[in-house]
Amino acid sequence: MRVIVLLGAPGAGKGTQAPLLAARLEIPVVATGDLFRAAVRDGTALGLGARRYMDAGQLVPDEITVKLLLERLARPDAAAGVILDGFPRTAVQAAALDRALAERGARVGAAVLVDVPAEELIRRMSGRWVCRRAGHPYHEVSNPPRVAGVCDIDGSELYQRADDQPATIRARMDQQLGALGQVIEHYRTSGVLRTVDGRQTIDAVAAAIDCALAEAGVAAAG
Ligand code: ADP
Ligand code: ADP
Repeated sequence: MRVIVLLGAPGAGKGTQAPLLAARLEIPVVATGDLFRAAVRDGTALGLGARRYMDAGQLVPDEITVKLLLERLARPDAAAGVILDGFPRTAVQAAALDRALAERGARVGAAVLVDVPAEELIRRMSGRWVCRRAGHPYHEVSNPPRVAGVCDIDGSELYQRADDQPATIRARMDQQLGALGQVIEHYRTSGVLRTVDGRQTIDAVAAAIDCALAEAGVAAAG
């Protein structure tokens, strides 16, 4: 089981890179933000519990998040491996993931940090549009869709996320960056952390991620 963790602040480009990498490695993306948004949309109990945290830019409590992630990992399409986007986001989540993988005789093969300075994160989130069907992200300036308002990949409508408003963007940065630091330390300690410069173009970041994975001994496609 190949498990790759994509780390980065909100807006760093994880959701952009994850599907590109998934196509190269032929394993699915598991994005907890997308799972939470689907639960909110479907009006499930979990979605109702998560919504107020998401709207406030806060992390959803670990207990709820770990449960959501473990249920997703138990599905058959995750058996060969997964690319995790947006999980783990706290040290508690990172430890829970390590335990769950150890039970299957697996471990995180690489944790790739997409590193982007704060002012660029704000620019990215303020211009972000995502698709209704799968959350594929676009940017009105740096990464526009071919047809305005329509996803290139699945043709669904694009919208701006409720939490991509200036006040919530600032709250997310204030509240989530400290926890990200702990997750980075977790993977630095276990020796699987690799950092790529996320300020480059989308293609250059993708190439840098491939190099980082090769260095970590997690083979790229093929
Ligand atoms: P971004 O793409 O801006 O990084 P996400 O789509 O990953 O944001 O997440 C949106 C929101 O969902 C977060 O602000 C948080 O409220 C919640 N969330 C997603 N993943 C996690 C997680 N691993 N732990 C706690 N909350 C999470
Ligand atoms: P995350 O999932 O880490 O929150 P996204 O992948 O949604 O981040 O990217 C945030 C915004 O920045 C989106 O509007 C996306 O189109 C844009 N973006 C992503 N990568 C780049 C890049 N390398 N250069 C410029 N803009 C980017």
